[in-house]
Amino acid sequence: MIPISRVDIGPEEERIVLEVLRSGHLAQGPMVERFEHGFARVSGTRHAVAVANGTLALVCALELAGVGAGDEVVTTPFTFVATLNAIIERGATVRFVDIDPLDFTIDPEQLQDVLSERVRAVVPVHLYGLPADMMAIAARLHGRDITIIEDAAQAHGATVRGQPVGSFGIGCFSLYATKNVTTGEGGVITTDDDSVAQRARLLRNQGMRRRYEYEVAGHNYRLTDLHAAVGVAQLGRLAHFTERRRSNAAYLTTGLAGVRGFVCPIVPEGRTHVFHQYTVRITDGAAVERDELAARLSELGVGTGVYYPRVAFDYECYRDHPLIEPAAVPEARRAANEVLSLPVHPSLEERHLARIVEAVHKILS
Ligand SMILES: *Cc1c(COP(=O)(O)O)cnc(C)c1O
Repeated sequence: MIPISRVDIGPEEERIVLEVLRSGHLAQGPMVERFEHGFARVSGTRHAVAVANGTLALVCALELAGVGAGDEVVTTPFTFVATLNAIIERGATVRFVDIDPLDFTIDPEQLQDVLSERVRAVVPVHLYGLPADMMAIAARLHGRDITIIEDAAQAHGATVRGQPVGSFGIGCFSLYATKNVTTGEGGVITTDDDSVAQRARLLRNQGMRRRYEYEVAGHNYRLTDLHAAVGVAQLGRLAHFTERRRSNAAYLTTGLAGVRGFVCPIVPEGRTHVFHQYTVRITDGAAVERDELAARLSELGVGTGVYYPRVAFDYECYRDHPLIEPAAVPEARRAANEVLSLPVHPSLEERHLARIVEAVHKILS
């Protein structure tokens, strides 16, 4: 079976974790700092602040933006549920703007319709590793007191007009096991703003600047040196990982072009894609439906995933939720019915890619 994702841990990860274990310094310490310096280069920001996971990076970024009860935060309905859970956690109301069907990210054209006085932040999600249209989003928000918080959980190293994601506002990254950079669990907040970074460090560590001097009511959002060590080794391999993801994607797109009812991912002008997922659409014209294709691919030894089978708020627990403002989002609903992700991870070899292409042709051609 070719898995949809695979954690790639090498000898350097093993060596450096052992180094931390033997040092006796396991909690947040010098290795977290070293990881943060490395990560700030990926996001092209002055600061990177490591936290315990990507969801907390979002919660903390929202707190840094002053988001609380009574505020509204705008995001996309086509995302992992953590995006909305983080907003709810802050006590703010979630408002949704539909996606652009071509790139699966929030549609900047529709932003105006929801920008009330209560909107404090907009959270674009760089889905599957493709940045949202940040230039258009920034232009729509120009002159308003609204913070951009990027959910870059899936997009380490992706760029818009040469500028890395995570540098357009407050950036939030995940280091979960299957993400493009992993520490098992972990997250990062990125910013160019010295005071935002300083407050992030305070909130992360119980509001404490110096030992037992508390400046704000904070939290424990810390990452451990053990986790950060894995991250340091992973960062050293990120350029290689991303190159592999891109060449794997190019192989699939070449091999699968022209299959009826099968739409390969696009990369809009000016943006770069880091292919956290290689996600296609299976449309009405295809020989079999999406779920049937997934089942048949599985029989042929090709793992797939549906990210995501429903729009994020379309679950019983959000139905009458006081902080969820449901919206008509036809494009997100259509995407939820049509998307299918194929393996694209760096561990794939050419023979795996050839098997994936062959299997899809066998079922759809
Ligand atoms: C993974 C992910 C998160 C949450 O990250 P965790 O580290 O799992 O908490 C948030 N948003 C998106 C889009 C994600 O893919």
